[in-house]
Amino acid sequence: MTWGRAGDAASLACYVEVGTRDKASLGPYQEILANRMIAAGQIENEEELEELSNRELLTRASVCGRSPNFFISWSPRYYYCIPHMGHDWFGISKIGRLNLDAMESFHAARPIIREIQDLSIFGILDKYRGLVPEGLLDQINAMRESIRFAGCSICLVLHRHEVLEKINLEMLTR
Ligand code: SF4
Repeated sequence: MTWGRAGDAASLACYVEVGTRDKASLGPYQEILANRMIAAGQIENEEELEELSNRELLTRASVCGRSPNFFISWSPRYYYCIPHMGHDWFGISKIGRLNLDAMESFHAARPIIREIQDLSIFGILDKYRGLVPEGLLDQINAMRESIRFAGCSICLVLHRHEVLEKINLEMLTR
């Protein structure tokens, strides 16, 4: 996904449509991706990549909570993930004031973030399906997401519909 001024280059990014198995949009990058995933032990061979649902491909390539998308921001705040810039719910600290307490209180109030890291965003969608409006699932399946760039936009969409917050509340109150 490309954001901001790079939005005009979105059609050049290597993306897949979430709800399909179609990999044609990866173009020549598919071979590079297959080699990387084989080297990382994420798939056994190129055929396996071809057969994977794009949901599973994005799950295996997930960078949630890991560098480079963790804590990167060009604004005066640290955000959990680049797409969340400007959304206070994902703001951790002002730059230069990040301390252990800020980290601990941020995660204590948002257990969903650890669960996104563990299960991937698709694992969350499966586990809390009852809290996700049907139309929103269709919208997510139709999204195009890039592979291994700087984060996707899926949990941002969930956040905008207050679904992440509902799931988070469920975790805090159960
Ligand atoms: S926006 Fe995507 S990459 Fe970023 S935390 Fe959410 S699911 Fe992970």
